[in-house]
This record gives sequence, C-alpha cells and structure tokens, in this order.
Amino acid sequence: MSIRLENIQYVYSQGTAYEKQALRDINLQINDGEFLGIIGHTGSGKSTLIQHLNGLTKATSGNIYFNDESIYQSGYNLKNLRNKVGLVFQYPEHQLFEETVLKDVCFGPKNQGLTEEECEKRAKEALELVGIAEELYIRSPFELSGGQKRRVAIAGVLAMEPDFLVLDEPTAGLDPRGRDEILDQIFYLHQRKELAVILVSHSMEDIAKYAGRIIVMNRGKVLYDDEPGKVFSHYKELEKVGLGAPQITYVMNELKGKGLPVQTDARTVEDA
Ligand code: ADP
Repeated sequence: MSIRLENIQYVYSQGTAYEKQALRDINLQINDGEFLGIIGHTGSGKSTLIQHLNGLTKATSGNIYFNDESIYQSGYNLKNLRNKVGLVFQYPEHQLFEETVLKDVCFGPKNQGLTEEECEKRAKEALELVGIAEELYIRSPFELSGGQKRRVAIAGVLAMEPDFLVLDEPTAGLDPRGRDEILDQIFYLHQRKELAVILVSHSMEDIAKYAGRIIVMNRGKVLYDDEPGKVFSHYKELEKVGLGAPQITYVMNELKGKGLPVQTDARTVEDA
C-alpha cells in the first residue's frame, strides 16, 4: 500500500490579492507500515501537505496516487480513501460532540453504514488501543482531561480502521505527561497494528524519538527526506530554516540511544 504525490503544487486564493503558494514541486511516496515524521517551521506547508493525503484538499496541479490509482480521476471513491487514510486534525477534541465517549467513537463507523453491533465492537477496540478505561465509555467526553479527550478523538479515527494514520501536531497544548502518553500510544499503535503513521510536529525531539524517516518542509518545499541520522546531520541548514540548535544535542543523543548512526557534516555532537 502506498500514497504517492507527483509534482504537487497548491495555491491558496488563486487569482486574488491574497494568493499564496503553500506547496511547490512535492514528490514523495509514503509506504505502509512506515513511521514518517514531518517537521518544519510554522507556515512551511505541513498542514496543507497532509490535507492532500486523503483528498480533503485538491492540488492546484500535480497528481496523487493511492495504491497506484489516481485519486483525482473522475468517479474515484474519496469516501473510501478517507477511511483508509485517517486524518487527525490539530485539537481534534474540539470535534467531540456526542453524549458519551462510546457514541462519539461510534460516529465514524456508523457513517460507514456498519451495524450497531459492529460499530460498538470497533469503538471499544479503538478505545482500548488508545488506553481509555472502560468505566469512561459512558461518560460525557467533556468530563475528561485534555489528554483523554484527545485520545478519544484519535480513537474516533482508528475506529474507521485506517491503514495510514495522519496526525497534525497531536501533542499541541498538552502538558509534558500528556504529550508523552499520546506519543507512546501512537508508537504502540504503529508497532502493534502495523499502522503507518504520519506525524506532523514542530518538535524535533518528538520526531527524533519515534520516526524512522523524516521530511523537512521549508517554504512549501521538501528540503530533506531521509532517515533521522542523515536529516539531523544537516543541522546547520536546519538552523537556517528555523529549526533551532537548542534541541540538537538532545536529538543526537536520542538517536544514539536508539543505536542509530549519527553523521554530522559540520560539528561533532559534543560541539553542538
Ligand atoms: P504549517 O502547517 O507548516 O504551519 P500551513 O500549511 O498551515 O503551514 O501554511 C502554509 C502556507 O499557506 C503559509 O504561508 C500560510 O500562511 C498559508 N495558508 C495556510 N492556510 C491558508 C488559508 N486558508 N488561506 C491562505 N493562506 C493559507
């Protein structure tokens, strides 16, 4: 299974005074089972990029293939694509609305036309996967903590049984404990369910800890697309595009701790 982007350009408000090119010449392929991190400065195009992956935003030009089939061909089943490529927006808990946690997670499968019984089964599995205790199923989602709400929202996407899980800044606004819990849970899902994860973050630490491949976005373009050790070896360049040096020692140590090769093209890790 794969998602392939070919020469993607995206322009907001084309033909108006507010015209803004957000993506330029994007060529990349994402394969099943990967854990891909996407980093970049605010405004570099990360959110716009991921909204293309499930056809939510249509490229101004270029093509996107899901399993070698163009998602832009007429009659293509975009609803089905959105089930396969689950997108978790920033602050997904803002979209919780049902009376109970269980009902909220059932919402997606119900929309897929599954039976009540099947919906509930899927919802319970998804809630278990994100570590939500059974006694919370009948609670109102609004009574939960911030981290729990977010996990329920992620369960709502998992209940659709996607092959690719795309998350836009899933730790935004959480305290350090909530952050670690969410990321550990996502990593566990990736390993246990062999779920491909595409994680957008502005935190190099988060990305370095989990991703097997990293894409660095800058001004709407892919600056690097490589394994973490190689990407972080360009840290002088990364500094120039607003991905700061303060995090670099931590990141390097994280990679070394994982036994991954770390190359530096400028300074040694100790100098950083
Ligand atoms: P990131 O997720 O990396 O912060 P975005 O994809 O949100 O970046 O934004 C990429 C560029 O597109 C930025 O210059 C941003 O200002 C612009 N942009 C994003 N959303 C809109 C919009 N709805 N209308 C116009 N420009 C937008």
